[in-house]
Amino acid sequence: MPYRIRIDRELCSGYAECVGLAPEVFELDTREKSVVVDPEGTDDESILDAARACPVDAIILIDEYEEQVWPA
Ligand code: SF4
Repeated sequence: MPYRIRIDRELCSGYAECVGLAPEVFELDTREKSVVVDPEGTDDESILDAARACPVDAIILIDEYEEQVWPA
């Protein structure tokens, strides 16, 4: 079951680590903020790695039990 992915666009500062690690899932928009283009574009582990790499913890992951997986 794929994570539900939320991006805190206030926090996102366009570092693009998420895009580098999971380009199938994240893209920068015209305001240099990350957007989710395909929440199922890669496996959960890679999405978690991308979220962990975000220096400002702007990527929030929710699992199928409605538990927040990241930030932990
Ligand atoms: S790594 Fe974080 S700050 Fe950088 S673009 Fe992705 S969500 Fe935004």
